[in-house]
Amino acid sequence: MSEEKGTIEKMLVVKPFKVFDSHGHPGLEKKGIADRPGCLDFWCGDSVVSRSMMGARAFMGDPNPFKVITKPEECPEMSPEVFIQYMDMAGVEAMCLQCIHGVTDPYPGNPKGWKWYVPNEYVKKDFIDAFPGRFTAVGGVHPRYGKQAAVEMVISAKECGFPGIKVHPPTSGYPNNPDLYPAYEKCQELGLHVQIHTGVEELPGTRAKYQHPVYVDDVAMDFPKLKILQLHCGVFNNPMMGLWNVMKHDNLYTDITIPHPTLMQFKYYWDLDHMRFLEFFMPDKVFYGTDFPLTLPVYRAMVDNIMNLPLSMDFKHKLMGNNFRKFINWKSK
Ligand SMILES: [Zn+2]
Repeated sequence: MSEEKGTIEKMLVVKPFKVFDSHGHPGLEKKGIADRPGCLDFWCGDSVVSRSMMGARAFMGDPNPFKVITKPEECPEMSPEVFIQYMDMAGVEAMCLQCIHGVTDPYPGNPKGWKWYVPNEYVKKDFIDAFPGRFTAVGGVHPRYGKQAAVEMVISAKECGFPGIKVHPPTSGYPNNPDLYPAYEKCQELGLHVQIHTGVEELPGTRAKYQHPVYVDDVAMDFPKLKILQLHCGVFNNPMMGLWNVMKHDNLYTDITIPHPTLMQFKYYWDLDHMRFLEFFMPDKVFYGTDFPLTLPVYRAMVDNIMNLPLSMDFKHKLMGNNFRKFINWKSK
């Protein structure tokens, strides 16, 4: 008898496993939504993002999900409880939430730029403290108000007990902007990791030039000891550069988070050849994430799809949770 496990053991004996979703978006909850700049624009008005949220509206019981809505009262009953409900349905133990802070460049119709702000304190109180063991978060940081303000945003994330921060270049400009460097130094000093968005973005006022993964290479070159998570692996802009970043830099990790499964191409996320590339070249440096609630209608299907791919169970467990748990030193309750 061979020492190798047979097909049944390798592929079909499913051990109980809890997923960790490394990337979700709070802020779109109905309660107080108008107080969080930018969040209303996800549901209201006739834009790419509000149209792509119509699927979520349908799933949450809106009898007329294709009607363009304009007022906070018309928003669906999104709440932290809805997050928990969908996580439970998909076997997701916990989710890392993206607090956001950013202001775009000015553009016609909006001379001050589009502001997106989901405060750290809100996420800590309404999600993390309200549901122990189910959420963690990263704090929003941007350089639009200057170097010192960016450093203070890092300190706020630390004070909230978060394991890292997030920079959102589509709203905040190039991630290798020298005005962000003191904030990165502060992260290193405080032991926080840095998440940097790459890839395309459909939100108002966002510019694609800022989102190229080549600028993340620059940050990794200048901060070789900083733990960096490259979000979305450069989807559409340049996924190959995103993959190369992970192979080149020991301190750089990526995720496979997909903002809109029905809008974005499937190739780089659910394609078997691509997943096997990840398994072969970077099995310990890639994380599963979902952009929930943007992916609410397919939340369970996304997990099932990956768990059913013919990849090793060892890699699936790393990808679907264990790599990220290790990355943030997560202790399950
Ligand atoms: Zn996201």
